[in-house]
Amino acid sequence: MSSEPIVIVGGGLTAARAIEAIRESEPVTPIILIGNEDRLPYERPPLSKGIMLGKDSEEVAYTHPREWYDERKVDLRLGVTAERLHPESRMVALSDGSEVHYDRLLLATGSVVRKLTIPGHDLNGVHYLRTMGDAEKIRARLIAGGRVVIVGAGWIGLEVAAAARAHGVEVTIVEPQPTPLYGVVGEKVGAWFADLHRGHGVNLKLGVGVTKFEGGSHGEDLPFQSSHRKVTAVVTSEGERLPADMVVVGVGILPNTALAESAGLAVDNGIVVNSSLKVGKYGIWAAGDVANWYNPTFETRMRVEHWANAYNGGYTAGQSMTGQEVTYGRVPFFYSDQYDVGLEYAGFVPRDVQTEVVLRGDPATNAFMAFWVTAHASGHRVLAGMHVNVWDTVDAIKALVRNYTVVDLAKLADPGVPLDAVAAGR
Ligand SMILES: Cc1cc2nc3c(=O)[nH]c(=O)nc-3n(C[C@H](O)[C@H](O)[C@H](O)COP(=O)(O)OP(=O)(O)OC[C@H]3O[C@@H](n4cnc5c(N)ncnc54)[C@H](O)[C@@H]3O)c2cc1C
Repeated sequence: MSSEPIVIVGGGLTAARAIEAIRESEPVTPIILIGNEDRLPYERPPLSKGIMLGKDSEEVAYTHPREWYDERKVDLRLGVTAERLHPESRMVALSDGSEVHYDRLLLATGSVVRKLTIPGHDLNGVHYLRTMGDAEKIRARLIAGGRVVIVGAGWIGLEVAAAARAHGVEVTIVEPQPTPLYGVVGEKVGAWFADLHRGHGVNLKLGVGVTKFEGGSHGEDLPFQSSHRKVTAVVTSEGERLPADMVVVGVGILPNTALAESAGLAVDNGIVVNSSLKVGKYGIWAAGDVANWYNPTFETRMRVEHWANAYNGGYTAGQSMTGQEVTYGRVPFFYSDQYDVGLEYAGFVPRDVQTEVVLRGDPATNAFMAFWVTAHASGHRVLAGMHVNVWDTVDAIKALVRNYTVVDLAKLADPGVPLDAVAAGR
């Protein structure tokens, strides 16, 4: 085996989980972790939940304490960016002027937020949420009080709205689609999310875009912000002017493929890897948000932007890097917490597939399930399912999805029928 190290670019959950797997079978191979945030690898879900609410400390989000890396002799290069990758010479050039050569390389560079470029986009008080630093700034502003306008009713926007309401802040969400999360859950379940937030005092502007942010030089802002002009209002596509002391934009993310692209690797909605998360040559793997991999369970390529994919995909990549014959075929899974509601979703609905929604239980109780079902020649199959406050059901949802179970829709809709007994003809 080469004496060169294993290098991991990206200091998030994917990276940390890969190290766990690598160290299980290679206790001494040198590992270098290059992460451009000046923090130990951490998990992001708490940023819009416990940390935003002020319930959790920063340390809660760390995947491991510093000693964990020291004990495993991981060379942490934090606050350092991998600027160039030379696959043929297996070398990465770093922002501190150094170069590292590798035997094997994992690209775990995650995602970057999609930014708006409308007039006023660079005013003080217009925030995005991706990093611990972002979360700290937004939370400080929420504590200061006032009015927040959230652009985008996706997962991030909704979770920030819930945290903002807990801080007693006035919240307006502007979303061009007819419901929150319209593209993910559709109209029926999206309407339930709208009711949930309205019930907690959120002002929802649906079917409405944002055309500009207005600013003024008056008004104080927090000292870490440098420019003098601060956002004072959001103007909608209907011409309405929504006063704002702060704006949080959550309009999606993009895979952080810059390094891979500049190195000439195949990139197509993420770094293209096989079912073992390997690029194919040059000893390179990719996992987590940035990877577009072939999922053998679904017999299709996918890219997933959720915690469980970083957790499981990072670990599988680490195993694959140590020569184990593994493939990554998990059913995609994510979770969210908003107010007193916890939910989990599992499955995969391709964009071009029509589904019908089957509800199980009454959404008005905030304890129900929803299934996205498609018709096949053999009958109806569940492509994805979600529970809201109906715990210990997600494994059964995954089993329905993974096994392509042909279901009886009446049984699926009946909370009295166990989920392992909803197959048609039983
Ligand atoms: C606020 C928030 C809340 C979320 N909540 C949930 C949730 O409730 N449920 C859920 O399932 N998912 C949630 N997610 C999504 C989940 O956190 C991500 O899917 C996960 O973080 C992806 O992990 P990753 O390691 O692949 O990438 P990332 O976490 O993005 O980590 C990549 C790291 O690599 C660094 N990096 C990038 N390029 C370079 C380079 N060239 N050199 C050095 N370093 C580099 C980045 O700065 C970053 O630190 C949430 C995400 C956010 C932002």
